[in-house]
Amino acid sequence: LLTDEGSPVPTIFAEMTALAARTGAINLGQGFPDEDGPVEVLEAARAAISDGRNQYPPGRGEPELLAAIADHQSHWYGIELDADTQVLVTAGATEALAATVLALVDGPDDEIVVFEPYYDAYAALVALSGARLVGVPLRWPDFQPDLDELAAAVTDRTRLILVNDPHNPTGTVFSPETIEEIVRLAHRHDAVIVTDEVYEHLTFDAPHVPIATVPGAAERTLSISSAGKTFSVTGWKVGWVTGPADLVRAVLAVKQWLTYVNAGPFQPAVAAGLRLPDAVFSGIADRLRAGRDLLGAGLREAGFAVSTPAGSYFTVADAAPLGASDADAFCRELPDRAGVVAIPLTAFASPAHRGEYATLVRFAACKRPDVLAEASARLARAF
Ligand code: PMP
Ligand code: GLN
Repeated sequence: LLTDEGSPVPTIFAEMTALAARTGAINLGQGFPDEDGPVEVLEAARAAISDGRNQYPPGRGEPELLAAIADHQSHWYGIELDADTQVLVTAGATEALAATVLALVDGPDDEIVVFEPYYDAYAALVALSGARLVGVPLRWPDFQPDLDELAAAVTDRTRLILVNDPHNPTGTVFSPETIEEIVRLAHRHDAVIVTDEVYEHLTFDAPHVPIATVPGAAERTLSISSAGKTFSVTGWKVGWVTGPADLVRAVLAVKQWLTYVNAGPFQPAVAAGLRLPDAVFSGIADRLRAGRDLLGAGLREAGFAVSTPAGSYFTVADAAPLGASDADAFCRELPDRAGVVAIPLTAFASPAHRGEYATLVRFAACKRPDVLAEASARLARAF
């Protein structure tokens, strides 16, 4: 977490966004949209501020947001929750993940199974908790785990199986066989499943299937999501965790000492967003699918091999056909060479598995069509 000089190691996102600012390159590194989300959601936040909803909300969250989250889970997935005891609002999915890991892990003898490559916060949070990270690699080009490797990784020492589906950075959506195997292993070894579903509404081929809907999963699964991706408001940091009341209570016990509460006026705005018609949600996914297709075509045209994502903001491309052997070096040169910033997949892997991703690069597709077209044109000119 610290450099040799004792400074915080900058996150790969901070580093790459700074690189884009310094070079004037198009930032396809950090995943944030360059257009605001639904106007109804933005208006609801303005109204909440004007209406004076600017003081501390209740500890678990504003009742109207707790109810909207419970109704969202019922409407989209048939998951029935008690809004008073089975839902907790957090400062983004990040705080939900942090409070969950800190609440449920006891110390160095506990293991947390994580799929690699992983969203960078996962490794940092496991380190903060003092537990041991056990990585299961997802491999190019389909990024589904090998079920034997998964079974070998989960043991009686496993406290948590941390899943991210749809998956950042690969864009993969786990197959039904994979999620059923995760549930089977969690039962066999008495582990809790923690599932990060922040891209739940950003799937391109089929509706999202939460792990908590697999028979036998709900009683041991904490599901995490966030308004940031669904409503293109990544700076609002309104997240939530849902699941069995005793597990949610344990997460609340930690969350209250991290931020206590968060996002006062944004909570009613997100509640309004979660109640918008289904077409608003599918419209956001449709725009992102078009972005994925535009970016994928541009990357292929430039000579990359491309893995087509089934969800998320991201597309992974292999730079080996362009002669690259080191994705990290390739990405550091890319702004000067092509005027584009992207992130090496090695930034999302533990030392044990980094070699598997040596030539792979993550591009963000959550940008306006003209921006993606310009990035594609620059890459085609450069290679
Ligand atoms: N999990 C994943 C997989 C993500 O991609 C992100 C956003 N980058 C987060 C969690 C964090 O979400 P939030 O901004 O709501 O904290
Ligand atoms: N979730 C975004 C990504 O993966 C950005 C996260 C961040 O900046 N911490 O790019």
